[in-house]
Amino acid sequence: MQFPQALETVLETLERMRDEGTQRPHASRSAFNSLQQFSATRTIEKPQPHAQTATVNEPKGADKVEQLAAVQKRVSGCTKCPHLASSRTQTVFGVGNADADLMFVGEAPGADEDAQGEPFVGRAGQLLTRIIKAMGFPREEVYIANILKCRPDTPGSAYGNRPPTPKEMQTCRPYLMEQIDIIQPKVIVALGAVAVEGLLGTRAPMRELRGRWNSFNGTPLMITYHPAYLLRNQSPSEKRKVWEDMMHVLERLEKPISEKQRNYFL
Ligand code: SF4
Repeated sequence: MQFPQALETVLETLERMRDEGTQRPHASRSAFNSLQQFSATRTIEKPQPHAQTATVNEPKGADKVEQLAAVQKRVSGCTKCPHLASSRTQTVFGVGNADADLMFVGEAPGADEDAQGEPFVGRAGQLLTRIIKAMGFPREEVYIANILKCRPDTPGSAYGNRPPTPKEMQTCRPYLMEQIDIIQPKVIVALGAVAVEGLLGTRAPMRELRGRWNSFNGTPLMITYHPAYLLRNQSPSEKRKVWEDMMHVLERLEKPISEKQRNYFL
């Protein structure tokens, strides 16, 4: 076995033990990152297709791109949920700026995302992109990911989507934790109740959750409706609520808000 393969095996074993709650040996997040970085320098493989699109010149950003690519590589071969590993077309890791100030987290890939390998590319994704642009960001400047990296299977049907189960979210969540640890966004936006449950473990109606600041391991987290909800419910008042949530986010990021933005309706 080549050294890089051996190192990958050690990493996967340590991670599995951590996920299963094994107390010893202890492997800290920084130890994982160090090993991953070392592994990355020893391998000559190029990043997978759909790798991070950021081209950040600062060393810090470049390090983040490498670290994310190492996690993405592990995710692309992940079979922790055998039913999803066998039904997916590909994993859907995440996309955007590895050094983003703003990170959006949704629930899971749908059929479009499974086909294209990128989160939020279907109709809901197009609406999210419009929201991001209305906030004054190119889509590439933020980071977008899901709790689950595989499309929840729909046995017997190639169409339709289903929400991830709590067990699936619990199994996949460590990958999202690694993404957040690496990117270190200033603000996270949770899109919809499933994302809230995956991130905070909280279950409640969205009308009670949205529009409020929470904290995710010290990072400010804003909860708002999933864009798919806005596609189902075209009421201007619901759309306006999401936009008001996004203005709170802009204020938190200390971004100027124009008069046009203040009066904007999605
Ligand atoms: S959903 Fe996550 S944990 Fe499950 S197989 Fe896919 S990548 Fe692995």
